[in-house]
Amino acid sequence: MYFIFQLEFNSTKTYIADLIRAYAKQIGIELDVFQDSKLITISALQDDEKLEAFLNGLEGVLPASLYIGKSKHFFRDEKLFLPSLEEAKLPVNIAPCPTCQKEMFDVSSRRYYYPFTSCNYCGSQHPFVSKYPYSRANSTMKFLAPCEACVEESKSNFLRLDYPLISCIECGIAIRMLDKEVEHLALDKGDFRKLFKASGFAIAAGKTVLMKTAHGYRKFFNPNKDLDAVKKISFSATVSDSTLNKNPYAFSEASKQNVELSTLLMASAGGINTHLMLVEQEFNALLSIERPLLRVATKSDEIKALYGSSALVKYPDDGMTMLLAREVLNAGLEYIAYIECEGTEEADFLVDFDLPISSQKDTKLFVNQDDKLFVSGERIIFPTVVKNENSMVALAHDLLAVEVEGKTIIDSMEKFDSIKGKGVNILETEEFESGHANEQKVPQYKASMMSVLAEYGKVGHKAIGVHFDGNLNFLYYNGKNIINAVPPIPFESDNLWEKISTLREGSDRLVGNYQKAYPEIWERLDKLEGDMDIFEVTAITLGLANESFEGISAEALSFLGKGGLQIDTRVKDNRFDNYAFLTSIMSYQLGDVENSYMCYSIYESFGDYIGEIVPQLIDKVDTKTIVLTGETFANQSLYGRIQRTLGQYNPLMGKKFPIGKESAVHGALYL
Ligand SMILES: [Zn+2]
Ligand SMILES: [Zn+2]
Repeated sequence: MYFIFQLEFNSTKTYIADLIRAYAKQIGIELDVFQDSKLITISALQDDEKLEAFLNGLEGVLPASLYIGKSKHFFRDEKLFLPSLEEAKLPVNIAPCPTCQKEMFDVSSRRYYYPFTSCNYCGSQHPFVSKYPYSRANSTMKFLAPCEACVEESKSNFLRLDYPLISCIECGIAIRMLDKEVEHLALDKGDFRKLFKASGFAIAAGKTVLMKTAHGYRKFFNPNKDLDAVKKISFSATVSDSTLNKNPYAFSEASKQNVELSTLLMASAGGINTHLMLVEQEFNALLSIERPLLRVATKSDEIKALYGSSALVKYPDDGMTMLLAREVLNAGLEYIAYIECEGTEEADFLVDFDLPISSQKDTKLFVNQDDKLFVSGERIIFPTVVKNENSMVALAHDLLAVEVEGKTIIDSMEKFDSIKGKGVNILETEEFESGHANEQKVPQYKASMMSVLAEYGKVGHKAIGVHFDGNLNFLYYNGKNIINAVPPIPFESDNLWEKISTLREGSDRLVGNYQKAYPEIWERLDKLEGDMDIFEVTAITLGLANESFEGISAEALSFLGKGGLQIDTRVKDNRFDNYAFLTSIMSYQLGDVENSYMCYSIYESFGDYIGEIVPQLIDKVDTKTIVLTGETFANQSLYGRIQRTLGQYNPLMGKKFPIGKESAVHGALYL
């Protein structure tokens, strides 16, 4: 008899299955571990005397993961053979696993308060890897020789057999702390602990600490203390690609608004339910070893005072941040805040190390009941191995899909030496020229849609697509090409009042009334440049601190009532009319409708509009396959509305790649 244990695992990442195999070796039990794109299956002889010890111990060794779902077990007479996917050995960039964490907090271990503690199956590996194939020689740790204990360990410890990046306090990366006058170098165990303790207490006392983490420099601070210190933070670093840069207006307000744009770091799981309002799935995702960023509704009065209705939240995700969080907790704080920034950022203290790292863009996750979607980002998702039947090379958003030793890997461009392939597909917004004879520029919407079709095995089959990334596009894929079936009416934000006043009869009266009621906003809208998207303009109209669709999304999250406010989306034919949309919002504003209600309704109205257009397209082209792409879908009210209007068609959304722009590097392989 065989004992079969099955774990839902919705990813091709192999670190969990590999960890299970390694742990079985440690216990000395013979078993098989299979993994396909949905399940991890463990098969062992039922009467194996070590089975119980293995199963009991596994619980303590396995980390919580985003990808793990329900589990079940059953018995079977014959031995089981399943095909198993094989991923190339790729460096991960996740939090330390339970075993590695234990070591970091065990005073007797060689890695007590050592922030770079990791093993084959966890931790910050990717930041130290300079190129493929993955080996110590191809990492920035190549000049650090492992000590005797580490060499010995790489032959005996089941977690670190031949681990390329093995290191400990004795032989690893030295860190130091600097204030304006003195430098403190951490050399032994006691020093590492002291350094983090000093940092934690400095933050509690209202100082700022700039720290080099595996994910780049972060400036940590206590958002409740000394708001002047916070005011000094230059937020340009955190919002580099948004309009906030162009827009100093947003920062001229109190420093409170600056806190709103920082990430809230929970120092322990204990404080999460006190301060935030989240469902169990969100809580689990936040604490998973992948440690994504999550936008969560706020609950406690103190967090509401700092962040407003929602906050971008993080649970410590790398060794540096984790050790700091521990000491922050010891200093009596349940949470602190940070911004991502450059190493030159002004701060009271600097915690630094010399080894160069390459950091990845952090990844935002969207959770709606049991659905989890990556919104945007690189970490967690990349590097990954993908199918590439046409032997193509693809480039999008500085990510490259290229063949290395027979497998196609997607990772940041600088990790590859050369590109070889039958053709090169490049996102049209990239400046890069490959010099390849067969080079093609591809638009974002096509690449995004192809990524989802490929993920679900639907390449070559007809489909309807909706790409919503600030702009709303309705697409048709005839099995060969993607056509923009209902493109948006171009939106130009200059001369806005003129366009609004001529929209319909009586529109000019609205413009006059609006100028009287909101003279400052009127003035600002009057001076807009032409290249803004409708969400930015809407956010300015509503006076939100975060002038982007994320700001509207965040505001919508705090609305707890039921919908009903109908926002006008068109004037003539079926196309979305931005000017009609804005006019409608302004009239509600004049009628004193609350911002949260309005923002909620904005997404609901988009949901209704999409829910109306898509079935019309489906009727015309005879397919029931619908693909939804674009970051704007990561919104609770829009997502809920889409489920209601299009749920019967079971619309497809990317699970392996972000629904946002980074999926293009995958989809471009199929164009
Ligand atoms: Zn580990
Ligand atoms: Zn060592």
